[in-house]
Amino acid sequence: MSQIAIPIRAPSPISADDTILPFEVSALDLRGRVVRLGAVADEVLTRHDYPPPVAKLLGEAVVLTVLLGSSLKFEGRFILQTQSDGLVRMMVVDYTSPGRIRAVARYDADAVAAAIAQGRASPDALVGRGHLAMTVDQGPDMSRYQGLVALEGGDLEEAAHEYFRRSEQIPTRVRLAVAEELQAVPEGVRHRWRAGGIVLQFLPRAQERMRGPDLDPGDAPAGIAVPAIPEDDAWVEGRSLVETVEDLELIDPAISSERLLYRLFHERGVRVFRSAKIAAHCSCSREGVARMLRSFPNHDRQHMVEHGAISVTCEFCNTTYRFEPSEFDGS
Ligand SMILES: [Zn+2]
Repeated sequence: MSQIAIPIRAPSPISADDTILPFEVSALDLRGRVVRLGAVADEVLTRHDYPPPVAKLLGEAVVLTVLLGSSLKFEGRFILQTQSDGLVRMMVVDYTSPGRIRAVARYDADAVAAAIAQGRASPDALVGRGHLAMTVDQGPDMSRYQGLVALEGGDLEEAAHEYFRRSEQIPTRVRLAVAEELQAVPEGVRHRWRAGGIVLQFLPRAQERMRGPDLDPGDAPAGIAVPAIPEDDAWVEGRSLVETVEDLELIDPAISSERLLYRLFHERGVRVFRSAKIAAHCSCSREGVARMLRSFPNHDRQHMVEHGAISVTCEFCNTTYRFEPSEFDGS
C-alpha cells in the first residue's frame, strides 16, 4: 500500500482574518471549521447603523452562516433567515460561494432602545420565538432545499444544535463570538467589529457509531421504554473540548485559528486543510436595480419619483441607486 506523506509542522502564530480553516481530528472522527472575521465583520455590520446589541446578534448569524455555507461543495447560495416575535423580528444572511457574505436585520427601533436603556437587550430577548430557516439555492434550474428549526427563546448556537440533531442527525457543536474592538485613532476611539466561530461534527467512518439517542417522542409505541444509547466517547471528548472555547479565543487577533486548534486537539493530532477567504460582497448593481424598475408598469414608477428622481436603497448593503425618470422613457 502506498503511503502519502503528510507534512507535520507547528501551528502558525499568524492570525489570518477573514478566512475559514477546515480541519480534521481523525483519531476522534471529528471534522470542523474555524472562521475568523476582522474587516469583513466590521464592513458587513457597519454598513447598517444598527444599535450594538442588534449588530452583535446579526454578527453571530453571519458567523453561523459562514460556518455552514462554506461546507457546501458546489457553486450556489446558502441563506440563513430568522423570523421571530423578538425585538429583532427578522435577519437574513446570504452566503454566495466562494466566500461572499451580506446581511440585514429588521427590528423595532423604539423597543430595542427601551430594552437597551433597561439592560434587557440580551441576545435571547432580541431573538424571541419563531423559526430559523436555512435554504440552499443552486441556481434557477435546481430545486431549493430548505431546513427549518424552531427558535424557542434560546440563542443561535442552541438553534443550530437542535437543527443538526433533528434534521441531519449529525452530532454538532457550534461556538459563535462577536465583539467590538476599541482602536485608538487621531480623532479619538474607533469601534471595530470582530467575529469568530468554530463548528465541530462527529462523522465516524463506522456507521453503527452514528446511532444517537432516539428523538423524543421517538418511533417506539407508547408505553415501551426506549433504551438510552450513550453518546460515543470520541464525540463526548470532542464536544467537551469545544465547549471550553472562550469568546476571546475566537476573536483575539493574537490567537491564530491554527493555535486554537492546536490548543484544543494537540493530544490527538489535528490536521488542517487549505483555508479559504471570506469577503463582504453584495450582489446588487445599478444595472440589476434598473432592470427591476423597468419591469414595473409606468404608473407604478411614476409613484416612486421623489424630488425629481427615483431612489432605491439596497437593504443588504445600504447602497442607494438614483435614477432620472427619463431613463425609463419608452420602457
Ligand atoms: Zn447591495
